[in-house]
Amino acid sequence: MEKAKRKISIIGSTGSIGTQALEVIEKLQDEFEIVALAGGSNVDLLKIQVEKFKPKFVYASKPIFVDGVECVSSLEDICSNKANDIILVAVSGKIGLRPTLTAIENGIDIALANKETLVMAGDIVMNRAKAKGVNIIPVDSEHCAIHQCIKDISQVEKLIITASGGPFLHKTVDDMKAATVEQALAHPRWHMGKKITVDSATLMNKGLEIIEAHHLFGFDYDKIDVVVHPQSIVHSAIEYVDGSVIAQLGLPSMHIPIQYAITYPKRFEGIKSKSFSFADIARLDFEKPDFEKFPCVKLAYEAGRIGGTATVCLNAANEEAVFAFLDGKIKLFNIYEVTQEMLSRHNAIKNPSIDEIFETDEKVRNLTRDYISKLA
Ligand code: NDP
Ligand code: MG
Repeated sequence: MEKAKRKISIIGSTGSIGTQALEVIEKLQDEFEIVALAGGSNVDLLKIQVEKFKPKFVYASKPIFVDGVECVSSLEDICSNKANDIILVAVSGKIGLRPTLTAIENGIDIALANKETLVMAGDIVMNRAKAKGVNIIPVDSEHCAIHQCIKDISQVEKLIITASGGPFLHKTVDDMKAATVEQALAHPRWHMGKKITVDSATLMNKGLEIIEAHHLFGFDYDKIDVVVHPQSIVHSAIEYVDGSVIAQLGLPSMHIPIQYAITYPKRFEGIKSKSFSFADIARLDFEKPDFEKFPCVKLAYEAGRIGGTATVCLNAANEEAVFAFLDGKIKLFNIYEVTQEMLSRHNAIKNPSIDEIFETDEKVRNLTRDYISKLA
């Protein structure tokens, strides 16, 4: 008898995470059946993926025609399809939130790459997932590492999130102030989408990950530490109450956390190409993050501690500032200044509804764009 395959959909299949997920699935063809693939504007790549992986459904920002495949009209159409056992949410930005909630309401497990979903609405998402008995398995490598380390969460004292430090780790603040878009996009360890790569240069990515960890694992911000670890071999760690530290290590590749999240709780050789060798790695370095040079981390702690819509504001202002930087309208360092200004003006709503979250997001984006237009 043929064994049952896990039925999966990928939203954001044409992105950095999405394409790597398809590489994982290609190696594990006997384990997966693809229900749907969804992308945005890169229709050419999506068509190639659809022809190769033959899902039943496809979604793109504009209609796409492939023989035998039904084109649906929204990401929610995919995420409400109960044929799915699991959905990989690999779109970027705020568009991940509604489809994630739709999947949760339909009792479908989620492999979550899109950190903005938790930064914007972590309380609602985690509460609904708990109520529906839905598993949310993190793809983000740090959270995936912590997920792998935790055995008994009640005995964990704190979380230790590692940060590679990005391209400006050992550069001066002046170097950062003069940084070009090209320099900011030249991440030494990871090849990712542009938005997250800029966030990695300012370390806002780490800030967003602190908030993501707070929601995923339910730890206070005082119990979430960040340590810089340039080699990106230790993907994060936890400290138990007795002082034992458990870390997850591996070669820096997103294939491993993606595979872990979509095959959980099983493990497979799958995409692994090389065995790990401590001797080849030879050394692992750690240092304290420099909050003067990377103030975005402090700002994220601040927004997280305020809670409610403060993290919505942080996320929206930062994202708009990153887009403005990529468009050449502001400097890299302005991203912090703009985000800080927006946060200082924001009156956070406690326990916001989803509508209030989206309203806040829209309002902050408009204010941020307006503020940036007057900066020059
Ligand atoms: P990319 O920019 O490479 O990919 C984004 C994906 O979202 C693309 O498939 C894009 O489609 C799709 N998309 C964008 N807008 C829409 C839309 N309106 N409707 C449907 N699809 C849309 O991002 P990454 O893969 O780097 O990141 C994805 C998420 O994962 C982010 O939230 C990021 O923070 C997180 N993450 C990424 C990591 C990485 O290593 N890349 C690591 C950890 C987390 P198209 O290109 O066709 O327009
Ligand atoms: Mg990460």
